[in-house]
Amino acid sequence: MKRLTEHPKWRDWRWQMRNRVHTEEGLEEWLSPSATERRGIRETEGVFRWNITPYYASLMDPEDPACPIRRQVVPTAEELQPDLVGDIDPLGEVAHSPVKNLIHNYEDRVAFCVTAECAIYCRYCLRKRMVGDADFFLRKGELQDAIDYVEAHPEIRDVLLTGGDPLTFNEANLEWLLSRLRAIAHVEIIRIGSRMPVKLPYRITDELCEMLQQYHPLWLNTHFNHPREVTEDARMAIDRLLRAGIPVGNQTVLLRGINDNVRVMRKLNEKLVAARVRPYYLYQAQLIGGTAHLRTPIEHGMAITEALRGRTSGFAIPTYVLDTPLGKVPLNRSYVEGRAGDYVVMRTYSSERWAEPNPLPDGFQSAVKLPEIDFPADARTIETNTSFVPLPLAPHYA
Ligand SMILES: *Cc1c(COP(=O)(O)O)cnc(C)c1O
Repeated sequence: MKRLTEHPKWRDWRWQMRNRVHTEEGLEEWLSPSATERRGIRETEGVFRWNITPYYASLMDPEDPACPIRRQVVPTAEELQPDLVGDIDPLGEVAHSPVKNLIHNYEDRVAFCVTAECAIYCRYCLRKRMVGDADFFLRKGELQDAIDYVEAHPEIRDVLLTGGDPLTFNEANLEWLLSRLRAIAHVEIIRIGSRMPVKLPYRITDELCEMLQQYHPLWLNTHFNHPREVTEDARMAIDRLLRAGIPVGNQTVLLRGINDNVRVMRKLNEKLVAARVRPYYLYQAQLIGGTAHLRTPIEHGMAITEALRGRTSGFAIPTYVLDTPLGKVPLNRSYVEGRAGDYVVMRTYSSERWAEPNPLPDGFQSAVKLPEIDFPADARTIETNTSFVPLPLAPHYA
């Protein structure tokens, strides 16, 4: 099973990209899929894509279908359960995009989805239906349109490159993009959001880092979810980024059965700070169709973050947030106002109100109990839909 790890090209990121696992037969080289995994693979075909780098596959526990690595990437039949919200775009990203794939939701900064390609397709992905999708790829002229937009808006001082994963670009394309953004005087910082240190650490080559460091100030946020992902190879990738002067932060998604307990969350963040990665955000999982089985009650996430306070280094504690169309909201007692039945009501940074659908499972117990309130008349929310019928996928980009 593990003989692939001896392959002479194992550390070649392009070889890893070419040899990703995305079929039942391919997965069987690593493990014997469980019944729910086999059904997931067959029944989600044409609905949700999946793709696993051999490196990340090598971290899976072949004996344990509940393995936190495996659950992040192998489809299961749970993805086709009726979901509370079948929205493919709960953050209204399309509405906030003045040009294709550029989201201008906060005045001074933009998120720019430069590609739809990613090295692995996480089961809980915010852009689960977009990743790998031909409709979300940008041609060079469309990238240029986004750059022109940034140039025409002097209030934009912070550009976040995301996707997909921007580091799936080759050096030449990435450098083309970075050099054009750097040429815009009002762009103070450029940030890259990339999961490469986690899912394909061999992408972080010396050649890449030498190129990146020409475009400072550059920050990188990566995305570790579980302490088992913090491997020696991952630490080496982080070290190369840090030596190039790029501060590395981390964003975790709170995922049921994967990292939703104090012990795992503390271990993860302590391993990250030991690798000199600063935990930044812990995200509440979004209401993306096909991910209900991975979502947690908000009270549960609040209880975890409250349990970390005072019990580990202050900078090992990320800010627990929910992303909403009204901006990111810290999920703590000063922003969260209470629970109105199946909704958690919170105040946003601009003092609007957001009500997040977040029903409690039967018998749910938590150290955090929110005040019971009435649904405020001025709260915005998203329309829930319990009969999510996934549409067929657009063609894969390849
Ligand atoms: C998260 C996000 C950002 C960056 O937000 P920070 O809180 O500054 O990290 C920028 N734009 C959009 C649309 C975002 O969702």
